[in-house]
Amino acid sequence: MDLKERYFNKIRSERLRLTKSRKAMIEILENKHLTFKEIQKALASRGFYNVSTIYNNLEFLMEHKMVVEIYIDNVKYYDLAMDNPMHSVDSHIHILNKETNEITEVNSPEIFDYLVNHEAFQDLDLEYIRIIVSAHKKK
Ligand SMILES: [Zn+2]
Repeated sequence: MDLKERYFNKIRSERLRLTKSRKAMIEILENKHLTFKEIQKALASRGFYNVSTIYNNLEFLMEHKMVVEIYIDNVKYYDLAMDNPMHSVDSHIHILNKETNEITEVNSPEIFDYLVNHEAFQDLDLEYIRIIVSAHKKK
């Protein structure tokens, strides 16, 4: 089953409405980190123009932990969070390439294990850890 089918199934299995616009939103976010404007543009090219529907669908998908917001350099991006092999909703490492503005992901659970077990957090129940790395390619 591909990634977007798993999202569709989750929505169906919770007896929520899998509308055409929700489907389109999941499809355009697959393997991408998009700003609201980019989402709007991608959806417009598929015939979905209603901005409040886009807002509502994003809210809906975030509420059900399928999409997360991430802030990178003061820009808000939306990212599929469920069953993403690179991160769960609670553990993100994103790298922003400053030259290309491209965002990539790193899968290093040991970094999170180290942090979670750090003495600074021993009295805390951690809600999430999100790590953003901003970088240039070495010259
Ligand atoms: Zn991501």
